[in-house]
Amino acid sequence: MARFESVLDSVGGTPLIRLTRAVAGLRPRIYVKAEWQNPGGGVKDRAALWMLRQAEADGSLRPGGTVVEATSGNTGIGLALIAAHLGYRAVIFAGSRISAEKQAQITAYGAELRLVDAFVPRDHPDSLRSHAQRYAEQTPGAWLAGQYDNPANPASHAATTGPEIWDDTDGTVTHLVACVGTGGTISGAGRYLKTAGAGRVRVIGADPITSSYSGGDGSLKYIEGAGHFVHPDTVHDLWPRALDGGVIDEYVGIGDRLAIDTVRQLARTEGILAGGSSGVALAAALQVAGRLDENHTVVVLLPDSGRSYLSTYFNDRWLAVNGFTDPEPGTPTVGEVA
Ligand code: PMP
Repeated sequence: MARFESVLDSVGGTPLIRLTRAVAGLRPRIYVKAEWQNPGGGVKDRAALWMLRQAEADGSLRPGGTVVEATSGNTGIGLALIAAHLGYRAVIFAGSRISAEKQAQITAYGAELRLVDAFVPRDHPDSLRSHAQRYAEQTPGAWLAGQYDNPANPASHAATTGPEIWDDTDGTVTHLVACVGTGGTISGAGRYLKTAGAGRVRVIGADPITSSYSGGDGSLKYIEGAGHFVHPDTVHDLWPRALDGGVIDEYVGIGDRLAIDTVRQLARTEGILAGGSSGVALAAALQVAGRLDENHTVVVLLPDSGRSYLSTYFNDRWLAVNGFTDPEPGTPTVGEVA
C-alpha cells in the first residue's frame, strides 16, 4: 500500500530487507524487518495503536481523555503520535536515562514527558510504573495503557507483524529472532508464525546478557527497550503477562559492547542505521545463522532506528565516557560467527 487516508493507517506493513554485505560467510538467507519505517520510528507503534483502539472500544478511553503510560520510549512515542492525531492528551512516564532523541520525540508530538529517576522494585511507590499508575488513578478520564500486561500488545503482532513476515517470505521463514521487552513482539509474531508453519518455525529471544529473561543477574545495562531488569532487593519480579514464554525456543544473551559494535558495523557495511536493541537482535541472529545452512531463512526484527541514538551508540564521546572505546580482544564483528 502506498497511499493512506491517515497516519494511523500507515502503522505496520514494514518491509523485509535482505542483508548482503554484513553476512559474509553465512549460509542462510537473512532478512531484517525494518520496524523503523513505522510512522513513529519504531515497532511499538503497532502495540500503541492496538491498545488505544481496544481502550476506545471497551470505553476505558473516551473523548477528552488522557493517555498515560510508563515506557522506555518507543511506546511513548507511538502513543503520543496517536493521541495527537485523535485529539487526546498524553502523559508519558519514562526512565531519565532514555536517549535525549526519544525524549524530544515524545514532546514534539505535544505529549507531556515526566522523567523518573529510580531503579527500584516495580511495586515500590517510586518505580516508573507506580508513578504512571498513581497519576492515572488520580486523573479523571485517564487511561493507563499498561503494555506489560495488556493483551492488545501481543495481539497487535499476531494480527500484523507475524502475517507480514509469513507472507513476505512466502512461508519460507524458518527462524524468527527478536528482542524481548514486554514480550509483545515475540509472543504475538512468534505464536502466529509457529501456527502458520505448523511448528517448523523456531523462535529465538535475543537478550541483553544481564537481563533476567536469559538467566542474567538483572543488573542494568546500556541497551534501551530490550530485556528484563530487576532490582537486587526484589526476590522475584513478575514477568509481563504480555510475554508468552512458551513461544520462545531459545534465548541468546548478547553483551552491550557486542550489540553496539554490531549495530555500528551494520550502518557502515549495509547502510542500515538501527538502534541498540537491533544490535542485540542482529548479533544473536548471526550466532544462530552460523549453525544453519542454505535451507534456512532467518528474519531478524529490528525495533527502531539509530537516529534515536545518535547521541549515544553512534557518538564517540559517549562511547569513551561509558568505557566502550577500546574493542574487547576477540570481539566478533558482523559477518564473523562468534
Ligand atoms: N527494542 C526497543 C528499542 C524497544 O523500545 C522495545 C519495546 N520496549 C523492544 C525492543 C522490545 O519489544 P517488546 O516490548 O514488544 O518485547
